Amino acid sequence: MPRRSRTSMPAATRSRTRQGLAVLGVLAVGGSLAAAGPAAAAGTAAPKEAQAIGYGGAVSTVDPDATAVGLEVLRKGGNAADAAIASAAALGVTEPYSAGIGGGGFLVYYNAKTKKVTTLDGRETAPKAFAPNTLQNADGSALDFNSVVNSGLSVGVPGTPALWDKAAKKLGTWNLDKLLAPAQKLAAQGFVVDETFHSQTATNAQRFARFPATAAIYLPGGKAPEVGTTFTNPDLAKSYGILRSQGVKALYQGEIGKALVQTAREPQTTDGSQVFKGLITLNDLKSYQALTRKPTVSKYKNLSVYGMPTPSSGGIAVGEALNLLEAYPGKPLNKVSQTQYLHRLAEASATAFADRNRWVGDFGGTPTQQLLSQGFADERACQLFDAEKAAARPIPFGRPDGRYGDCTLPFVAQQAPRDDHGTTHLTVADKWGNVAAYTLTIEQTGGSGITVPGYGILLNNELTDFNFVPLTAGVPDPNLPGPAKRPRSSMAPTIITKGAKPYLALGSPGGATIITTVLQVATGNLDRKLSLVDAIAAPRLSSRNGATSDAEPGITGGELGQSLTALGHSLKETPEIGAATGIQFLSGKRLVAAAEPTRRGGGAAAVVSKKPLK
Ligand code: GLU
Repeated sequence: MPRRSRTSMPAATRSRTRQGLAVLGVLAVGGSLAAAGPAAAAGTAAPKEAQAIGYGGAVSTVDPDATAVGLEVLRKGGNAADAAIASAAALGVTEPYSAGIGGGGFLVYYNAKTKKVTTLDGRETAPKAFAPNTLQNADGSALDFNSVVNSGLSVGVPGTPALWDKAAKKLGTWNLDKLLAPAQKLAAQGFVVDETFHSQTATNAQRFARFPATAAIYLPGGKAPEVGTTFTNPDLAKSYGILRSQGVKALYQGEIGKALVQTAREPQTTDGSQVFKGLITLNDLKSYQALTRKPTVSKYKNLSVYGMPTPSSGGIAVGEALNLLEAYPGKPLNKVSQTQYLHRLAEASATAFADRNRWVGDFGGTPTQQLLSQGFADERACQLFDAEKAAARPIPFGRPDGRYGDCTLPFVAQQAPRDDHGTTHLTVADKWGNVAAYTLTIEQTGGSGITVPGYGILLNNELTDFNFVPLTAGVPDPNLPGPAKRPRSSMAPTIITKGAKPYLALGSPGGATIITTVLQVATGNLDRKLSLVDAIAAPRLSSRNGATSDAEPGITGGELGQSLTALGHSLKETPEIGAATGIQFLSGKRLVAAAEPTRRGGGAAAVVSKKPLK
């Protein structure tokens, strides 16, 4: 069984171990899964490999159980949409602090028949009662961030069940009843606690303890479940059962919805202390819809890059950054030094963040086409790029107005908004050539910390993705709260095609760092000619227009860090950035599924068959 030694990893790296595999006695033999062993756990975990090469379909997630579920769907004839939904539902059980019924997400989908890319927006939505000043005190200052996180006020209408329903009906071939069965089983029979689950629970123990329904499930005996024990979630299993038998209207118009609204509006605390009450109503749930949206598309060399449009900024920011990389003068990215490559990435991403902070949000006026135009990128490159020197942060935002060629630097520079992490990304391909890139979240790791009693659903805190107060006084802010508005996201599930055929699909968690991770992994593979798994493994740099740029120890610890610092980059060492997964499409229907070799303890990439299908 492929296993790595991860015991030396600090908990802070959120390392995910699958010591439970040994307990489960689950083994992959010759590409088929055989489950054995004494544990009651339902998991039929896939091998925990960072790379799998083969044919007939592929699944890559952060979690062996979720990968195994998706693989099984593919093997039984489901398509990429089916497998993505089933895997996501499984992640709702084994990665409940990053994904689940109580959250939202975005799906980018390549349809092999039509050769078209479509997207589904399952983003959480603010209650109709939300207004631009809802997250402010009476004097206009921002409410205390953590108090909002751990409260009903941050809970948006969940979009994940609606997205699953829409994806199943529109893109899939199985019904939700069948697709949610493995997740229900996993929740009922349990999975084996690994280091990530343990450490994420321990890190959240204090706030979980404040909410009785959360503590009852996630802190059995008052503490985080030990690594190697089997963790069951009967309440969550019940919820999956209800969704299977009644459909998602049980959440949007039925018993789950009623309980959810009551919980968010009147959060019960263990000690009777008050937290902000939610504004969400039954009507908000009833009006919710997962939306089909036209993907963002930008050209990068001879490739088309498809991403998520607003309310995510992912597609726009990744697309603009790629355009900037093409606009920068000098040698192409494959010919420059590693320092110069990272310098260019940092400048491109910081510029894209300056622009998205000013222009991108769910308000109907985002100038998407302009932000993604090469003319705008050329102007921004001319204003800002110096191969020998990092531009001073914060970089001022540009003017995506269709009139380009002005190389004078504009002067309004805004501080970067805050961002947080708690998400997961999965990538799936099937034997017909359909591809799913799906990122889902409950926002912070552990969301709002509030669980719907009796239903095991951990509620999101996605509404803290809004800016509480305008980023800069006097400058319009596209990401202030509003009625039924969707908070701006950074999630960037991405599908890249060449000649209308899939070439690369990828994504990552990590809040705003998602954008820089996707950019770095894509260019690592496309330009620096790293294999996909090596592009994923490479040490990451994330420059998001803040005073400092996050950099992993692989960069800060060596000459690379010194040479970037010499160019003017102020680096802040960060143990781990993102947890990407992806699939690369080679000639002859060969697939390379890739996941993290070490981040979050390593992901699970798998293919349906090592040999070409007959
Ligand atoms: N809420 C974040 C977003 O939508 C995602 C959080 C994360 O990736 O961890 O951008």
